[in-house]
Parts: sequence; C-alpha cells; structure tokens
Amino acid sequence: MNMPVSHPTFVHVRSEHIQSLDIDVHEYRHTATGVPHVHLAADNAENVFMVGLRTIPTDSTGVAHILEHTVLCGSEKYPVRDPFFMMIRRSLNTFMNAFTSSDWTAYPFATQNRKDYFNLLDVYLDAVFFSRLHELDFAQEGHRVEFETPDDVNSDLVFKGVVFNEMKGAMSAPTSMLWQTLTKHLFPNNTYHFNSGGDPEHIPDLSYQQLKSFYDTHYHPSNAVLMTYGDITPDVLQSRFEEQVLNRFEKLDRTVGVEPAKRYHSPLRVQESFATQEVDTTDKTHIVVGWLLGESIDLDQRLRAHLLSSVLLDNSASPLMRALEQSDLGNAPSPLCGLEDSAREMVFACGLAELMPSMMTSAAFLAGMPNGPEAPPE
Ligand SMILES: [Zn+2]
Repeated sequence: MNMPVSHPTFVHVRSEHIQSLDIDVHEYRHTATGVPHVHLAADNAENVFMVGLRTIPTDSTGVAHILEHTVLCGSEKYPVRDPFFMMIRRSLNTFMNAFTSSDWTAYPFATQNRKDYFNLLDVYLDAVFFSRLHELDFAQEGHRVEFETPDDVNSDLVFKGVVFNEMKGAMSAPTSMLWQTLTKHLFPNNTYHFNSGGDPEHIPDLSYQQLKSFYDTHYHPSNAVLMTYGDITPDVLQSRFEEQVLNRFEKLDRTVGVEPAKRYHSPLRVQESFATQEVDTTDKTHIVVGWLLGESIDLDQRLRAHLLSSVLLDNSASPLMRALEQSDLGNAPSPLCGLEDSAREMVFACGLAELMPSMMTSAAFLAGMPNGPEAPPE
C-alpha cells in the first residue's frame, strides 16, 4: 500500500487496503481539535468531499433541520444570498447536497474538475463552520408569522417557513405519523424520541437564540468528521482544512452523543390517533408491532437482522409477508414492515394497514421491547 504524506497538524491513525474496491483507506486525526479525517485514496479524478456532524436534538422543534437549511444561506467569506444554490448552477459538480437525519447532518459534493473541487470546498467549509445565520434567513427557512392575505392587515395571521411547510406536508402522511409515534415509544429517553425534522406544532417554539446555540455546540470540528475520496493527496486536503477552518478552533470539551435507549420491562401497548380530512374513517387504521434490537454498529448483529428480515419479508412467499398479505384482519402489510438500522439501535417492525371497520377506528401499535439488548431470534 502507498503510504501518503500527511499535514503536520494531523496524525496518522490507521490505513487499510480494500481489495474489492481497489482503494486505500487512511484515517487521520487533527491534533488540536480532534476532528477525524477519513481519506479513501483511489485512482479516480472524481474527487468527493463530505463534512458530517453529530446533530442530536432534544426536542421536536426541528432545530437540526432548520439549521441545515439556514447554514447554506450565506457565510463569512460569502455573505451573499444562497451561495450554495448559486454553486449548484454554475459549478461543474457531479453531486451537491445536504442531508439531515435523526442524529447527523452531512454536506457532501463531488466533481471531476480540480479547480471546481477547491472552489466548492471553500464554499462548503465556510458555510458549515462560519455560517452567517442571519435572523431573516431563520425566519425564511424556519418559521415566521404572516398575514394570510399579504396586503390585508385584517386577515388572519398564519405560520410560514420553508421547513415549517415541508414538515406540514411530510407529517400529513399517516405513515410518517405512525413512524414518529412508534419511535416516540420505542426510544423513551434519547434523541429518537423526538421528531428531528420538526413537528409543525413545535417548530414555532424554536427561537433564533436556540438555533445559534445549537450551531455553536454542534457545528464544531470536535463534533465533526471530514471525509474525502479520490486522487488528491491527504496533505493537500489537510492543509486546506487547517488554513481555512481548523486553526481558528480549539477542542470542545463537551461530547455530543446518543444515550442507549431505556428498555421496558414488559411490552407496551399504545393507541393514538392521526388527523384526516375525510369524514369516513373506514379503512384508515394501522397496527404495527415494533421491536428494539441491538446496536447498529455491531456488524454481526446487523447482518443477522438483515438476513432474518429478508427471510421473513422479502416477497409474497416469505412466511411473515405471506401471513400479512393473506390475513383477513387487514387489507395490506404495513408500509413500516422491515428493518430500520440507521439509528444507534435497530428497529424491526411489521403490521397491517387499513384494517376492516370492525377492528378499530384509530392508529394503534404494540411495541414489544425485551428488557436489555437482544439479538434477533435465530
Ligand atoms: Zn428540508
């Protein structure tokens, strides 16, 4: 394996060759801030960059999601309207995006042009670590109050905002409500208890100050990971990281992380309702059973859970899928059927949708949680 040179502000942690992909993985750590840099060295001129941050909300105001939007609305070096969206149009990128999940936020891009790569790197690093976070951008992306008819001061006041509207749309789907309700009970004490995208009922509770303080503690090199792929050498990348960002930070003595879920002593049965515009509530009921499994970073358990989930649910001949499809207790298997392995602990769920009128009139589910982590049954 080719051992590349690293920048003096970074220490080499480990290297590994992955034969099947023909790449070398090199892991480094920035001494002063502790930020890891994972570089996938490949003989490929399409270079990729991603900065990822642990974002762990402790409420359903959608703070991490609103921040993901607001961060891209101008930064210290680029105090202009939407530098991110301007770059999407004028750069030679092959991929540009931003994502928020329940416990992380990531900003990745890719390009085959080296000049373009360093331009985009500059915009991304500045946006993430030196975001302007203007109060008006918060009002635009998060929430604000407006007259229903803009020119009529006698019209009703209504909530508006990009994320507010996005989440109003997302949460109007019964499946999203069902998933939020299931995770609320499966994870009673950690971040997955909350709606990380933002519950429209709680989004207006978020203040501008709260957004800024979440930014200060979460968008810090000590809470980030830098990842790169391609044929640009690590020392070149690291000197950019150091000069543009890292020399201005010190290690944060606070760790952001997810607590393991508190386990129940016996299965929990919950019945909740969801909003619908239709008067006739026939065939609107969902029943889901959810099990909390082991940690998703346990690769052995994860492989077994995937295998078992496929055996049970893969197609109409799989035993659990067949039972759900043929059951006359409901019309169809629940869209939540399957394994969810993106959280700290995995969830297996299955159930039925659109139950017959005689069964029930609202959403209900049974969350069966063993006391203590357990492997899926073998
Ligand atoms: Zn969004």
